[in-house]
Amino acid sequence: MLGKLTLIGCGPGASDLLTIRAARRIVEADIVFHDRLVEADVLELASPAATLQYVGKKCTDGGRQQTDINSMLRGALLAGRHVARLKSGDPMIFGRAAEEIAVAVELGAEIEIVPGVTAALAAAAECSIPVTERAELQSFVVTTGRSANKDKEPDWANLLKPGICVAFYMSVAQAWRIQTALMARGVPGSLQAEWVENVGKPDCRRVETRLDRLALDARQHRVRNPAILFIRYPLSATNVEVIPAPADGMTI
Ligand code: SAH
Repeated sequence: MLGKLTLIGCGPGASDLLTIRAARRIVEADIVFHDRLVEADVLELASPAATLQYVGKKCTDGGRQQTDINSMLRGALLAGRHVARLKSGDPMIFGRAAEEIAVAVELGAEIEIVPGVTAALAAAAECSIPVTERAELQSFVVTTGRSANKDKEPDWANLLKPGICVAFYMSVAQAWRIQTALMARGVPGSLQAEWVENVGKPDCRRVETRLDRLALDARQHRVRNPAILFIRYPLSATNVEVIPAPADGMTI
């Protein structure tokens, strides 16, 4: 008999930001797939009889590719196991959920998805940064500075318009590109921005900056992943003077 796959959103790290449903599904699982963004006290919820399987991916450590993870999931489902696949934040936001859902669908295995608190919203709460604001910010955009296709720039440069707050995931290394591309499109360099690092952890840190200091402040304050970048473009900021984009070819 085929097993069951549960993709579980574990929030940004703190176990008390798990939903009750997420905690229940972790307790019920007989194999738990987890990565480095999930904290140890979340793993402690698993049954002592369950197998804990680390499937961390880190670009720099030669870690597992998604295809390996998919085949491990396939193997566990074919062995009839109840698999809890723990994801940081919410599985449906930059969580490679589509590929893992496809594994279960191809086999005809049962699948359940448990939502979690995504990093941007945990960061917004922790730092008291509303991502919408009456009469100032009507839209909230979630995007990334990274592109899966190296030849194609992500479209975020077209996203930041007056009335919009953008949360950038996976963007620390992209700070200079984000800054220059947005300013080249006339977005004011004086816009308020924030890096929020290690949300939900004891060493959470907020670095306040502005669009025209994004890369400089990231370097000076040694902002490291995991971090969220917020850039807010309130409607009232449309009156401010537009600072010209920095010259091309500069690197941080
Ligand atoms: N599914 C996750 C996102 C995974 S992509 C979610 O919904 O939150 C990984 C990116 O998420 C990181 O590069 C970072 O931008 C963000 N992130 C994850 N955990 C974080 C944390 N604790 N603090 C700040 N950013 C975090």
